[in-house]
Amino acid sequence: MAKHTVTLIPGDGIGPELTTAMRRVVEAAGVDIEWEIAEAGADVMDKYGTPLPQHVLDSIRKNKVAIKGPITTPVGTGFRSVNVAIRKELDLYACLRPAFSIAGSGARYDDIDIVLVRENTEDLYAGIEFPEGSDGARRLIEFAAAEGVGTIRPDSGISLKPISITGTRRIVKYAFDYAIANGRKKVTAVHKANILKHSDGLFLKVAREVAEEYAGSGVAFEDYIVDATCMQLVLHPEWWDVLVLPNLYGDILSDLSAGLIGGLGIAPGANIGAECAVFEPVHGSAPKYAGKDMANPTAEILSAMLMLKHLGETDAAGRILAAVRAVIGEGERVTYDIKRSRFGTTDGAVGTQAYADALIERL
Ligand code: NAP
Repeated sequence: MAKHTVTLIPGDGIGPELTTAMRRVVEAAGVDIEWEIAEAGADVMDKYGTPLPQHVLDSIRKNKVAIKGPITTPVGTGFRSVNVAIRKELDLYACLRPAFSIAGSGARYDDIDIVLVRENTEDLYAGIEFPEGSDGARRLIEFAAAEGVGTIRPDSGISLKPISITGTRRIVKYAFDYAIANGRKKVTAVHKANILKHSDGLFLKVAREVAEEYAGSGVAFEDYIVDATCMQLVLHPEWWDVLVLPNLYGDILSDLSAGLIGGLGIAPGANIGAECAVFEPVHGSAPKYAGKDMANPTAEILSAMLMLKHLGETDAAGRILAAVRAVIGEGERVTYDIKRSRFGTTDGAVGTQAYADALIERL
């Protein structure tokens, strides 16, 4: 019997080719994993009538650990995001997105080591929306007027932004526990509490209360307004350590951080709950590159590196990271995105699988 059983969701777009490369590298690192393949996304709609069949969730619940490729979300129509649904269904409340410099990535900075902890279950991502012209929107508009809290134009669509004490407490506690376990020095709560007094304001109040409980832990606490954080991340990326953010700011600043380290192709992520963990890159399905053997699998492979740490396979995780650093550092057998940002041309770029071959040779 394999030492670990992991649910593998290949996803769509560039997902299948990236997860193939990831799997080859993990297996070459000598980790004994049985992959339980579970298909989700637009491609399974016809077969199962839903983009997220029950057996996918059952598989993750059983195995407790999953790794996935990206899954396309149609904009403004069609099904809701499968990625968001998986996080909500399994209550994967903490989204961990480390952004660390890899020499040779062509990034503007070379000294970045930031960890974003994004709340994953509420905020504007709660999916509570009322379309323009709907009965729900009309009643909400009437309610706001009757309560005297504000005038909403009658032709508005409305999305709710719930932020709870419960959701905030556990994500800020997670950030502090992560900081302590990983020798980090500071947690910064990011918010817009000056404007959004009852959602972000509550987030900040609870974050401060939790920080009090961790006084003496050796981890400092501060808070920062989200727009100022964006500017200071670009001006002084070396200032930051662990950031804890409500869902939407976490999403946006993850991509900003990915940009600081050289792009989405190398930014890994993890969604962690009390029971299960699902690992996935920050990036999406990049449909224009699907099936072209072009996309960079590093983010997917580094997500597997995080998964291996989670499984206690620290040696293999370390060897995979070292191989990534070596191959990107040399800059020879790298994908188009790294060539482009480092050399200003995609000449000499290798494909997804050839890059994985280069990693495997370095393990
Ligand atoms: P995206 O798929 O992340 O791609 C945006 C751009 O980022 C690409 O055009 C490419 O830039 C670069 N990129 C992304 N992944 C890369 C990789 N592995 N290697 C090299 N470059 C990479 O964002 P999107 O086009 O906005 O989203 C596409 C779909 O994915 C949407 O349906 C979205 O909802 C979904 N999505 C899914 C997830 C998820 O599954 N968790 C997350 C985010 C988005 P260049 O063209 O400049 O090279």
